[in-house]
Amino acid sequence: MHSAHGPRIAVVGAGLGGLALARVLQLHGRSVTVFESEASAGARPQGGSLDIHAATGQIALRAAGLLDRFRALARPDGQEWRVLDPVTATAVPFPGPVHDEDSPEIDRGQLRGLFLESLDEGTVRWGCAVAGATPLGEGSWRLLLDDGTTEDADLVVGADGAWSRIRPALSDATPGYTGVTFIETGFDDCDTRHPALARLVGNGTLLAAADSKALLAQRNGNGHIRVYIAFRAPHDWQVAAGLELDDTAAVRAHLLKMFDGWDESLLHLLRHHDGGFVNRPVFVLPVPHTWEHVPGITLLGDAAHLMPPVGLGANLAMLDGTDLAQALVTESSIDDAVRAYESLMLPRSAQAAQDCAEALDHLIPPTDS
Ligand SMILES: Cc1cc2nc3c(=O)[nH]c(=O)nc-3n(C[C@H](O)[C@H](O)[C@H](O)COP(=O)(O)OP(=O)(O)OC[C@H]3O[C@@H](n4cnc5c(N)ncnc54)[C@H](O)[C@@H]3O)c2cc1C
Repeated sequence: MHSAHGPRIAVVGAGLGGLALARVLQLHGRSVTVFESEASAGARPQGGSLDIHAATGQIALRAAGLLDRFRALARPDGQEWRVLDPVTATAVPFPGPVHDEDSPEIDRGQLRGLFLESLDEGTVRWGCAVAGATPLGEGSWRLLLDDGTTEDADLVVGADGAWSRIRPALSDATPGYTGVTFIETGFDDCDTRHPALARLVGNGTLLAAADSKALLAQRNGNGHIRVYIAFRAPHDWQVAAGLELDDTAAVRAHLLKMFDGWDESLLHLLRHHDGGFVNRPVFVLPVPHTWEHVPGITLLGDAAHLMPPVGLGANLAMLDGTDLAQALVTESSIDDAVRAYESLMLPRSAQAAQDCAEALDHLIPPTDS
């Protein structure tokens, strides 16, 4: 691990939160190593478009010195929402409070690429899955890697997402199922191959919601439209329905029955997509999720506050990363810095998680309400 300049800081996870932390530390001349389980930056498609909010994600990007480069890549018109009545496919008002703040969209892979390009060579150690962390005393920690090796650090930051291997050192909490499942699919080259759908979706996100279910279609870069089919169901809904998730025709038939009566222009999303359906049950950490401060170890992003995917998680992960980095740069000790960061991040994320839980319930209301 890099240790030439000051304390050994080990970040577990090269998601947006961990990378934002590493970037700001390096901007201030601090040494940091990021341990990432995936084999390379391109090992896995990075998922859809993210709207980056003025009050959170953009503040983080400014701190990281990447705001101008973000703006050059972002799609300001991607923040448009079209909300349609499911039966008539005519426009209806947005269901819930309207946020009209500046929040341009960017593909997650592009945003992650901005951070990765900005880091010193060798900062991310790819293919290093971390199994856990054990205390060595006086605030130092030993990381246990899946390959049997170990790394010692003066600060361990769990930035390893929903199923964090660092979280158990601080908290017994585990993510629980919300009762809402998202199924993901999509369309390639939609302007040429599905022009009517491309016009219907426009430049941003199309939403139709009723009866505790919703269809969302979100324009990404490169002519791709990403589709989320959201509904309330038991975690093992497919077992109860007698379905194999890779049997695309059978899942489609099940979904078409579920969305029976919705306008054909919306059902196009279920009938004519490319590829299969990916099941994404929505898990969250308890609200509030908090812990007693422990010297030399902390969490950020989803590892700290996994919340429903209604548009805040990536923004907050980046803000956590830059806030922690700035505290490490300005406070006189690691322990003071982590305490300052946690006293800012924990109440902020508790409020955000509450807001996101309410937004999910608003979009997909509990069936007994
Ligand atoms: C369908 C969907 C849509 C979403 N849309 C939005 C949106 O529009 N706007 C928004 O702000 N948020 C959105 N989110 C939430 C957002 O994706 C997350 O909040 C965000 O990615 C959290 O960033 P992170 O850095 O904390 O964790 P992650 O992005 O999960 O990164 C964690 C990293 O740690 C690595 N890792 C995991 N375990 C280990 C280990 N043991 N050892 C080493 N490395 C490990 C992983 O490979 C990964 O690279 C969405 C989420 C979903 C599921």
